[in-house]
This record gives sequence, structure tokens and C-alpha cells, in this order.
Amino acid sequence: MHNEDQLRHLITSIDGKGYLSYKGIAGQYHYRQEGFVLAIDHIQSDPFASPSRLRIIIDRKKFGFPSNLYSNRSRRIGFCDFLARRFAKAIFHFTQGHRGSGKSGRISIDSPQQEILDRSAIIVDGDNIEVRFTVGLPAYGRRIASQEAMAIFFDEIPILVEETLLYENIDLALLMEYIEVNEDADYLRKHLKEMGLVSFVANQSMLPRMSGKDDRPSDSEHVVPFVSPSSFEVSVDLPNAGKIWGMGIPEGVTLIVGGGFHGKSTLLRAIELGVFNHRPGDGRERVITRPDAMKIKAEEGRPVQHVDISAFIHHLPQRINTECFNTLNASGSTSQATNIVEALESGSDLLLLDEDSSATNFMIRDAQMERLVPREKEPITPFIQHVRNLYDGYGCSTILVMGGSGDYFSQADHVICMDEYMAVDVSIQAHDISQVGPAIVRASAPKTFFTPRIPAPLSFEGFKHKGSRKVKPISRTKLLFGSEEVDLTSLDQMVCESQLRSISDGLVYAMKYMDGNRTLNEIVDLIVHDLEHQGLNILGPQGIGSYAMFRKQELMAAFNRLGRIRYRFPSE
Ligand code: ADP
Ligand code: MG
Repeated sequence: MHNEDQLRHLITSIDGKGYLSYKGIAGQYHYRQEGFVLAIDHIQSDPFASPSRLRIIIDRKKFGFPSNLYSNRSRRIGFCDFLARRFAKAIFHFTQGHRGSGKSGRISIDSPQQEILDRSAIIVDGDNIEVRFTVGLPAYGRRIASQEAMAIFFDEIPILVEETLLYENIDLALLMEYIEVNEDADYLRKHLKEMGLVSFVANQSMLPRMSGKDDRPSDSEHVVPFVSPSSFEVSVDLPNAGKIWGMGIPEGVTLIVGGGFHGKSTLLRAIELGVFNHRPGDGRERVITRPDAMKIKAEEGRPVQHVDISAFIHHLPQRINTECFNTLNASGSTSQATNIVEALESGSDLLLLDEDSSATNFMIRDAQMERLVPREKEPITPFIQHVRNLYDGYGCSTILVMGGSGDYFSQADHVICMDEYMAVDVSIQAHDISQVGPAIVRASAPKTFFTPRIPAPLSFEGFKHKGSRKVKPISRTKLLFGSEEVDLTSLDQMVCESQLRSISDGLVYAMKYMDGNRTLNEIVDLIVHDLEHQGLNILGPQGIGSYAMFRKQELMAAFNRLGRIRYRFPSE
């Protein structure tokens, strides 16, 4: 290994030379005085290309970190999340990007947002802690600017190390809060099932956000903190926070009703994102949902491959087969039916639906319409006729926001009304009302709501464009798969671009397990198992710091939106 003097010498010697001369500084350098190692792994080819990839490696004992900070997976993820945020914040103080052409001088780390996720930006590996970040190596035009590079390598990086990675300089109380909040959240999620709950919303949670596009907590002084109706109130004992109280939503069918703009969708959104942990101060750090809960939406235009949606849709015009439904352009109702069937295939036991993003004809059909268009003529068996079958027969719960129709009252176990952002238990009134209305006739329960599918490996290889892999994110919610654009915009539980990046590479990784016999569900389980046990690094070349962990559900959903992949049912 080299030392920092050698790096200094190298950088000075290439001043004013062509950009490619930067390639010569790749390697590992021991900063003897500060006691860390800087690894320069990958060098960009010009100032406008993706910035160069670097790592700082420290010995956690020398830097003072006790091992109880990451004594289990939950604590480690909370710890790493905190360090990544600190690093990102410290970078912010430097002269970002004013050091030449293109991305010259820009230092960045994949910094977490509201969710706390397992990420590859900070890695704890044995006694080492590794920080992965990128630097735009400075140049004017294509000429290397050594002086600017020296400022980065010998002023800023040592300052970053000192400020963010020296235990004695860290706000310990805040660090412990991250670790403990994360550990509590995982603990609660793990215990929801045995408590018979699908979701828990702690009292005093702050649910509304800054805006539809900004997921930070609302800073309005008029935010109404969440308070559970007394009939839903339960307490849970957390390892760090101790006993806390909140609304426990039991298994079964739960409706969230209430007038427009009274906070229904905001509550559901918090429940949806309760599959992930949130940072302290987010307001939703104690809103915890079953890990495989799936938001179900209508998604007009999505492709569907080989899905049996016959429980919901049958006898389409022109004898289109819905036991093995294929289309490159699903309608609102067929896409929503497909989304449910695929969620069940992925093992979800909680469906989350909002009237705002559902197809009306999929959700309800009232008595008057049924008189005009008889059941036999209507291809759709609306969700209302199956919602109880799903729970009674298959143990799959539903939480549904429905302000526009009372038809679901008779099907629901619980009805929560949002009234000026306050949750009220109106189950009894709703049931009384449903006694006098027209009865909802349930559909007969199908033998099964889904059939597992086996992907054909050859059809999947389409991404190998001219022999080279070409699978990558092309926007925050879309990826390129070979020459096909795959749209994941409707996945409300994919929360950041780093998850999309891991999902893209996860699709490629799947080749390892695709053998023409394993079902999609089995393949995805194997991938997630590998990631949890071997780390996100297995997805790509060493040293990538911009992966974030996703759920099995979103990876499967990505497969489900590939238009060209072919499947068969096990019986075929
Ligand atoms: P609904 O789905 O019932 O029509 P939304 O959940 O979309 O209502 O909320 C309407 C508005 O109220 C949003 O701007 C949201 O941010 C705000 N809001 C939601 N919950 C609260 C709350 N607890 N306190 C204050 N404002 C809230
Ligand atoms: Mg709404």
C-alpha cells in the first residue's frame, strides 16, 4: 500500500496533463497521521462522466467505536444510516462543484432520505468501517487541475474523516437515537403478527408531509398529532422506548372513511410506508406495518404476462383468456386485478387500497347497475364481492380508504372515520347502516386466487443487448432492460433511486437462479436471502456505494412489468 505523500506526488506530477492521466492515481493510500486508508477504485474518463468512486476505510477500534453500536442487524443499519447522513451533511459545507468543468470538485455520498434502509454507502466489515463516496476529479476543460485536486484529497477528505468518523466528535445521543429507533421498529414489525395486528400507528405520530413531492414532515403549526380511538388502542413494549400506546389495526377488513380532505389518504400512505423504518423526527418512526403489505393500484397501460386473474375477471369480449392473461396494455380494472393476484403470489397478507388510485368498476358495482347489466354479462367480479373471501379463506387482510361509497360497510370488520384528522371508531354505526341497505352478494370463493409462475430463462436473456448487459435506471422510477423501458412509477413502496438501482441489478442477478423449474416467487426469495446474508455488494462490482435494500415485493413487481418475459404454470 502507498502513503499519502506518494499520492501528493502523483497528483502534482499530472498537473495540466490530459484527463486520462488521472487513471494513474488509482490505488490505496495510507494516511499515516490520520490513520485511515483512502481507496481510489474507479476513475472517471472525463469531467462530465459519472464521478470517480472512492472509499475511506477506518479501523473502528482506533477511531473509538464500541461494537455494541452494531451488535445486530437492526442496530448496524441504524448506525450506518446515521454515519451516511453525517457524511452527507459535512460534504455540504464544501465548495461544491466550483472547481472546473463538468462535475469537477463535486463530492457526494448516497444519502438517506426519510427511510432507514440497509445501504452500501457505509459498510461495517469485521473491524473496518468503510465509507463509499464519489468525487468529480477536477479539471479545466480536459486539463487536470492538480491544485483543486490537492484541496479535495488533503484538506477536505481529512476533515470529513475527522468530523464524521471520529467517535469523540459524534453526537452520541443522536447516534443512539438512530440505532434504537431502528431496532424498536424492526422489533415491533416482527411481533405484529403474534399480536394479531396488521399495522400499528403510535399516538403522537405526525403523518402529513411537506407536499406530495416532498416526503419530509409537514412544518405547518396546524398538524394534528395522531391519537388512537380508545377502542383500537393497544400498548406495545419496545426494547428501547419501553411501553408505548397507539392504534392497532387488527387483521381482517378495515375501512378508512371520512369526508374529503380529512386525512384518509395521509393515514394510508403512512401505513404503506410502515413496511420501512423511518428516521427519528420523521413523525412516522412508530408507524409499523407487516413487512409484505402491498399497495394495490389501478395501473392502466402496464404489461401483464401469464397471470391467472380469472377470480376477478372472466368472459372478456372476444373470448380473451383470463386464466392466463397476457397484454401489453392492461385496462384500469385488469391491471388492478393483476396487481392483487401478483401481490398474493409474492406472499402478501395485507392489501392496501385507496379509492383515489383505484378503478371504480373494479371496486364496486351497485344494485342499480346490477339491474341494468346483469352479473352474467359483466366480466368483472368487483373487489367488494371477494374482499371477505380473501380474508376468511386465505388470511389476507385489507385496509381500504373509501369515502365515496358505503357499500363496503357490510363487508368490513372495522371502520375508522377520519374527522378533521382525528381517527374515530364508527364500526357500530356503519354496521347498523348496512343492515338497511341492499345486501352485497359475495362471489363464491375460487379454488385459489393465484397460480405460481415459472419464468423461462431464455426469454429473460433479452437484456443482453449485443452481448453486453444493459440493465440500468433511466430515471427515478424507470429502468432500461435491454431495449425495453420498464416503468415502475406506480410502485408506491419503492422509495428511492438507490432501491431502483439495486432492483435493476437484482434482475440481472436473478439469472443465477432461473433454471426453468423454479417459480418466480422462489427465485426472488433466494435473491433476497443472498442480499440479507452476503450484503448488497453481490449485485455489482466491488465498491459501489449507491445500493439500497428493496423488498421482495418490489423486485417481483419489476419482473412483472417486463413485457417480453415468458412464463409457464407448473402444470404446463
Ligand atoms: P383525504 O384523503 O381524506 O381527502 P388527505 O389525506 O389527502 O385527505 O389530506 C388532505 C390534506 O390534509 C393534505 O394536505 C394533508 O397533508 C393534510 N393533513 C393530513 N393529515 C393531517 C394532520 N394530521 N394534520 C394536519 N393536516 C393534515
Ligand atoms: Mg384521499
